[in-house]
Order: sequence, then C-alpha cells, then structure tokens
Amino acid sequence: MSLWYAQDYLDHYQMSLEVKESLFMGKSEFQEIMVIETYLYGKALLLDGIVQTTEKDEFMYHEMLVHPAMVTCLSPSKVLIVGGGDGGASREVLKHPVDKVVLVDIDQQVIEICQKFFPQLGKWDDSRLEVIIGDAATFLTTTQDTFDVIIMDSTDPLPAHVAEPLFTQDFFDLAYERLTPGGVLVSQMEPPFFQPERIAELWKRLKNFPLVHLYWGLVPTYPGGVWNYVVASKKNDPTLPRKKLPFTTRYYSDSIHRAAFVLPPFLQVLVEKANR
Ligand code: SAM
Repeated sequence: MSLWYAQDYLDHYQMSLEVKESLFMGKSEFQEIMVIETYLYGKALLLDGIVQTTEKDEFMYHEMLVHPAMVTCLSPSKVLIVGGGDGGASREVLKHPVDKVVLVDIDQQVIEICQKFFPQLGKWDDSRLEVIIGDAATFLTTTQDTFDVIIMDSTDPLPAHVAEPLFTQDFFDLAYERLTPGGVLVSQMEPPFFQPERIAELWKRLKNFPLVHLYWGLVPTYPGGVWNYVVASKKNDPTLPRKKLPFTTRYYSDSIHRAAFVLPPFLQVLVEKANR
C-alpha cells in the first residue's frame, strides 16, 4: 500500500508526494514541523504542511534567492537572513567573502531538526555566522546594525501566520533604513500566476527603493514549479551579473541571472501596472 502526502496550497490546488518514510512529526510554539523521506525528492521539510525545502531541488531555490542580490551589491560585507532556519540560504551566502551573516529565525526547533535531518544544508559551524532566535520583525526594530544585503527567506505570509509581520510596510521601511547606501533586499514571493495581486502589494511596500525587479527560477516542489523573487536595490541595477562568482554553482550562472529577469508579457504587464 503506497503512502502519499498531499499539500494544500491554494484553493482547488493540491500537490502530492509519495512518501517512503515519515522521519519526524512535531509542533513547536510556532508551527507544525514534519520531515518526510520521499521517493522523488529525498528528504523534505514541511512547515504547517507546506513544503519548504527538499534535498533534491533546494539548490535551485537557495542559489537563485541569494546570488543575484549578492553580485548586485558587489562586495557585501554584512548580510541579514530573515528566517532561513533550514540553513540553505546561509550556506550560499557564506560561499562569498563576507565578514558576517546574521540569521534571525523565530523557531529554534526548525534549526535543530534541519541540522539533524539536512546536515548538507547549513554551514552552522562557520565563525562568520551569528544565529539569533527571535521574531525578525522585532529584531529589525531593535538593531542598530546596517546590512549590505537583506535576504527574506521566511515561510509565506499567510493570515495570522508567524511570518505575516515580515511583509508589512513597516518591516520594509525599516529594512530600507537598515540597508547601507548600496544595499539590496531580496525576498522570495508567491508565483504571480496564482496570486497576481502579490506583485502590486509588494511593489507598494518597496516604494522607497529606486530599483525593484521581479525575477523567476525553477523550483519543482513549489506550487507551479516556477518560483518568483523580488529584488529591491538602492543603487546598482540588479538585472545584470556584475561580477563572476568565485565558486561553482548548479543552477545560478551569468546567463541564468540575465534570463531570470526576462519576463513573459503576462508578467511584464503586472509589473508595469505595479510600477505606476
Ligand atoms: N526556503 C523556504 C521557503 O522559501 O519556503 C523557507 C525557509 S525557512 C524553513 C522559513 C523560516 O521562516 C522558518 O524556519 C520559520 O521559523 C521562519 N520564520 C517565519 N516567520 C518568522 C519571523 N516572524 N521571524 C523570523 N523567522 C520566521
């Protein structure tokens, strides 16, 4: 008898993965945490029933979330990761010659579970990494630090969910202030194919930034298989790969960087409307 995990993501949409074994099920103060071994994608982390990351395709998401912003900023020294408890984003950032990475995740248990079941994801022993357990919205109101890059790698801002405060106008205004003059913010965002309204919402909240662009990349286990990101830059044009990476990658490349900002007309129209 086969076992399937079905993920509800939007009304009238379900995604299923055949499960080899259930490895962990628990509930932290903030969310339900599950780790399943799947036939197709290896281990998968689910938070509140939504696939966050899988062994097989996480590199696609983490490389495209991190490297376009990092090369836009040229020589980032201090990076803030909002969320990112699975470790993948910080692993990619730490490949760059940065001085410090501050990762603020609200849920210690997610970090512990990922260190146990996804050891290849994080570079937790890197001395440049500082992990702070707390609400990133609170952190941003209290810190006096400034950052060259802010990477939003949280769960989705579903109503009354712990990530909701991360997508408010206040949060993005504070992020703008905490960024250095050449600073860059990048966030993962729901696919406009399913939720076109998200573009206008986000663009409005990023109104302080002179350069705001949507880009996309493949992530097979995310709804629709194509994921979107929004990058907001204070100074440099984020659509161009401004420097070569000094290490190998499996998804990101100069040409992928350029291509990711080429939008099909149905998306371009949504962005132009949001820019008005
Ligand atoms: N890569 C995944 C994705 O894009 O779907 C998300 C990675 S990570 C697992 C998401 C993290 O966001 C979780 O560990 C969760 O605890 C964290 N998170 C959610 N709300 C938060 C908040 N308000 N402050 C800090 N971390 C938060």
